[in-house]
Amino acid sequence: MGLLLSESGLVGNAGHAVVIAGGGPTGMMLAGELALAGVDVAIVERRADQNFAGARAGGLHSRTLETLDQRGIAERFLSEGQVVQVHGFAMTRLDISDFPTRHPYSLGLWQNHIERILAGWISELAVPVYRAREVKGFVQDDSGVDVELSEGGRLRAQYLVGCDGGRSLVRKTAGIEFPGWDPATTNLIAVVEMAEKPEMGIHRTALGIHAFSRLEYEIRDGNVIFKDDGPIRVMLPDRSGGSAGDPTLDDLRAALIDVCGKDYGVHSPISISRFTDMARQAAAYRKGRILLAGDAAHVHSPVGGQGLNTGVQDAVNLGWKLAQVVKGVSPESLLDTYHAERQPVAARVLRFTLAQVALLRTDDRTDALREAVAELLSMDEPRKRFAARLSGLGIHYDLGEGHPLLGRRMPDLDLMTANGPLRVFSLLHRARPVLLNFGEPGGFDIAPWADRVQWVDAAAAGPWELPALGPVTAPTAVLVRPDGYVAWVGDLTHPGLGKALTTWFGPPC
Ligand SMILES: Cc1cc2nc3c(=O)[nH]c(=O)nc-3n(C[C@H](O)[C@H](O)[C@H](O)COP(=O)(O)OP(=O)(O)OC[C@H]3O[C@@H](n4cnc5c(N)ncnc54)[C@H](O)[C@@H]3O)c2cc1C
Repeated sequence: MGLLLSESGLVGNAGHAVVIAGGGPTGMMLAGELALAGVDVAIVERRADQNFAGARAGGLHSRTLETLDQRGIAERFLSEGQVVQVHGFAMTRLDISDFPTRHPYSLGLWQNHIERILAGWISELAVPVYRAREVKGFVQDDSGVDVELSEGGRLRAQYLVGCDGGRSLVRKTAGIEFPGWDPATTNLIAVVEMAEKPEMGIHRTALGIHAFSRLEYEIRDGNVIFKDDGPIRVMLPDRSGGSAGDPTLDDLRAALIDVCGKDYGVHSPISISRFTDMARQAAAYRKGRILLAGDAAHVHSPVGGQGLNTGVQDAVNLGWKLAQVVKGVSPESLLDTYHAERQPVAARVLRFTLAQVALLRTDDRTDALREAVAELLSMDEPRKRFAARLSGLGIHYDLGEGHPLLGRRMPDLDLMTANGPLRVFSLLHRARPVLLNFGEPGGFDIAPWADRVQWVDAAAAGPWELPALGPVTAPTAVLVRPDGYVAWVGDLTHPGLGKALTTWFGPPC
């Protein structure tokens, strides 16, 4: 059912298969995934347009870039950002240029640009966005959810997904617990003008870490070179205890004097906000017809730059599963695999972030510990293991025992097929699963799943190598899910193939 607008321009009583609360990076990625699968999805977004003051996340890590590549849109981001080796653990940089991926790097690109590009993509996919409206509440019943909007509108949906950020109203209204760790530190982050130029870069004092940078920068020989002019981004400890409201220019001045001894003539703020190292995670990612993704499901310190990346990957894990359930292809139980797979990923992100925050304390003992960790990370094996985790390339969903590819990302190999050469990822552009057969043609009747699963006979150029794990034996056939993870590996004559197809893509028809 489409968009209903009353004469006053307010939303009337309309319906969609899926309503997403929140059009940040997670909500937009999820909307794109559902729209690609042909599901009627709409976003309700509080902001009147996609813009926000400030910059927030600084970029995209390797697996997120691969994920966007799987949909054929990575180039839109790559063409606007700057490639850099920026994966790091507590400021120890971990170079991944030797990892077997087409994107062995991160991409420096501010979140406002990431959101603009995602908004362009979902607009092409004709996703309706109810802007300047909030989800105020909801009631779920056996067949759907009544979603109450600000200004009196209502939407009916089969499912409501809360992508509404760390303070998620959807999570709270659903009564989903959000256990974790209270903040130990508070920081101010601002984009401002300064009469006196501070020394750019990261500075350590007994009070903690503070940093000055510019929004505009270039990467030269792997180093960040800030432009000489333009707004300054400042991040510094806020020892005032933090007032209840949004921080003001006076709060920033006071913090600058506290930490640096002067305020650099700070003026003309573009944005000033606080962030903490609070770390919390939703106890359940699903409650009936309510699902959570992104910051609504997990929050933590921005150290390590994991939040946006984790949210986008939540969306890509959930999108195809929710689409299949909505279309009646798969039972509702498929949605439980979303929590089972993504909750452990974010739990590990939280632990790694807590560890980094601890290692970034600026006392002598912590300095010594960080140096020891940095020395360990200079060795190849620990570097690869940590970098695989931080880049997302090492994600392993527990799909049981078997070939090392099972539950891991399918490498984007060059294939030779009856239709000529192509890359594995190009087969995923429409978010449809693919059964890749590298053995003899035939041997399995795909007909009962042919409406859902692509079958491609191919020869792979190889090599078959996984980040941090190294070479793996070439498989005879692999079943790749729409999110790019391998659901099954084996021989086409193996009875497990039919079971795997049914588990992931519904019963034969
Ligand atoms: C200083 C800072 C630096 C960061 N750096 C990085 C980094 O380098 N890398 C990284 O990966 N992450 C980083 N992050 C984290 C990243 O910004 C978040 O993880 C990311 O924005 C989460 O995306 P989201 O879509 O889940 O939530 P959000 O971006 O919070 O989006 C939620 C959306 O929901 C809307 N909304 C909220 N409530 C409602 C409602 N009731 N009804 C309708 N709409 C609603 C909001 O307006 C918003 O648009 C950083 C964060 C901060 C603060």
